[in-house]
Amino acid sequence: MHTRTAGASLFPDLEPLLEQVSKPIQYVGGELNSTVKDWNCGGASADGVTVRWALMYPDAYEVGVPNQGSMILYEVLNERPDVLAERTYAVWPDMEALMREHGVPQFTVDAHRSVGDFDVLGVSFSTELGYTNLLTALDLAGIPLHARDRVDGDTIVIAGGHAAFNPETLADFVDAAIIGDGEEAVLMVSDLIATWKSEGMPGGRRELLLRLAKTGGVYVPEFYSVTYLADGRIQRIAPTEPGVPWRVSKHTVMDLDAWPYPKQPLVPLAESVHERMSVEIFRGCTRGCRFCQAGMITRPVRERSITGIGEMVEKGLAATGFEEVGLLSLSSADHTEIADITKGLADRYEGTNTGLSLPSTRVDAFNIDLANELTRNGRRSGLTFAPEGGSERIRKVINKMVTEDDLIKTVSAAYGAGWRNVKLYFMCGLPTETDEDVLQIAELAKRVIETGRQVSGRKDIRCTVSIGGFVPKPHTPFQWVGQLSSDETDARLEKLRDAIRSDRRLGSSIGFRYHDGKPGIVEGLLSRGDRRVGAVIEQVWRDGGRFDGWSEHFSYDLWMSAAEKAFSTMEWPIDVDWYTTREREESEVLPWDVVDSGLDKEWLWQDWLDALDETEVDDCRWTPCFDCGVCPQMNTEIEIGPTGKVLLPLTVLGAGKAAMAERTHA
Ligand code: SF4
Repeated sequence: MHTRTAGASLFPDLEPLLEQVSKPIQYVGGELNSTVKDWNCGGASADGVTVRWALMYPDAYEVGVPNQGSMILYEVLNERPDVLAERTYAVWPDMEALMREHGVPQFTVDAHRSVGDFDVLGVSFSTELGYTNLLTALDLAGIPLHARDRVDGDTIVIAGGHAAFNPETLADFVDAAIIGDGEEAVLMVSDLIATWKSEGMPGGRRELLLRLAKTGGVYVPEFYSVTYLADGRIQRIAPTEPGVPWRVSKHTVMDLDAWPYPKQPLVPLAESVHERMSVEIFRGCTRGCRFCQAGMITRPVRERSITGIGEMVEKGLAATGFEEVGLLSLSSADHTEIADITKGLADRYEGTNTGLSLPSTRVDAFNIDLANELTRNGRRSGLTFAPEGGSERIRKVINKMVTEDDLIKTVSAAYGAGWRNVKLYFMCGLPTETDEDVLQIAELAKRVIETGRQVSGRKDIRCTVSIGGFVPKPHTPFQWVGQLSSDETDARLEKLRDAIRSDRRLGSSIGFRYHDGKPGIVEGLLSRGDRRVGAVIEQVWRDGGRFDGWSEHFSYDLWMSAAEKAFSTMEWPIDVDWYTTREREESEVLPWDVVDSGLDKEWLWQDWLDALDETEVDDCRWTPCFDCGVCPQMNTEIEIGPTGKVLLPLTVLGAGKAAMAERTHA
């Protein structure tokens, strides 16, 4: 490779490759609202230092570009005059092969700069199945795969996202992990790097990492030693340097209105998974579903105000030209002012073809008014509800407090309001589950179709049952349970499929989508893994593993043979089953105990015992606190409305009124 100046564009080398790869547009950048800054833009800081971030979403462009988390960090960082942030995504294997052949390193899509030129590579992991893609990017970027081999001048690799709540699995490959909300954290890290750079980088990367670790909010695996018992369990994870905390705290943005991002959402050039503008209407969830890692680790609930939501929608639509607004959260209809929000937005955009969607709606929070507001402007996007468990019994175990009657009432409202297809999402392999619990899904789906036919008076309504294997996750009450093996999952799902198909009268109206249990086992290995699993990830990657989240690329056999190879060289009796189907005891040291998610481990254990007793626990938004530990630890409380504010003046844009009417605040 010829010598390049740091920060120089690789586009001249890349361009000839584009005509030889699939979907070349995903590599060219230049999207509406994307940002390209001068490589030395640090003029605003006293000493002209620039801190440069390459932000990676470790999946294909079409999945990564609409990711809200990455989009928010990209904008937050680029708003700082002395910071520069560009995006990079996983390249497809055809492009990877050509890049290797022609010596083109991993590049950013914004200015096509080499990722290895940046100070930081920040990787956002929503799922563990992106880990092999990180290794491809590191290798292509010329960054040593192992953190221990990196030297001064090498890019600092920082993981974030929900999967980083167990950073130990990635310990070999990342220098650090930021736990929790990223907005304030990336600015804190940028400040720290800027200071260290302006001081002349004393102590090299080790000193920088030490400073990061000492903040208490960044996990640096290098500064923790892990010892094991002879049976393979962890004996202790302990800091090795003075001032490095035993446990790392998660970052929590308390006032969402102070962070109205993305203000200028990216508009993808190539087709992407979501072609809409999204506004996150609240963060956190206190419903207490025991399987749900996202709900547990994002506590406490923090609502964006109705005024804040209205402003973001208005500005975001103006900045993008999208015709659909997704109101995002873990359970959007749970926003205390959702009725006013949807009515206000539907009024405001009446006649404009601007549709609203609630991509995540709880069965028991949906009602006919909401259904009508969502369809008022002519669009009727898909409706998905997630009862998660087929039987009333299993729903008590998982604390999904939804009754069969709730579900029937809800789907009646939906079919009555004109929806023709309702999707229902379930899980298989939940703790204590039997065949009978899963077969109840077929009965439920049949009742849904019968109800739909009755209320709509039509025969052509449909219900799609989508079902995935349950994977126990860290920081949940199910973090100790044994995962169901893939063979058992597959056998149970086959019985369910037969039960649905065998019904001649209703079965043809029920669609059935399921994933086999194999990817779930790999996800399980990675989610509850420790640093010894790094050897498996590396072996899989060396054997050609890429894009494990894609069924056409995922190879279970590759993972199993790599695991066998890697674990057989170790001194402990550990294998894939040991990490996945083995039940843990309360006293076991868990790899993610180093992360303080705010949840009290004793409370999690008690909640697990409650699950075994089929005891439900209410949503603490409406009941007294039941001491999960999060609020006192953060010195806060649940933040919900009503705020007494109003959304927007009800200017009907479709009637040609001015778009920018004056706002009223109550
Ligand atoms: S501390 Fe109490 S109020 Fe806060 S999230 Fe936990 S249970 Fe709910």
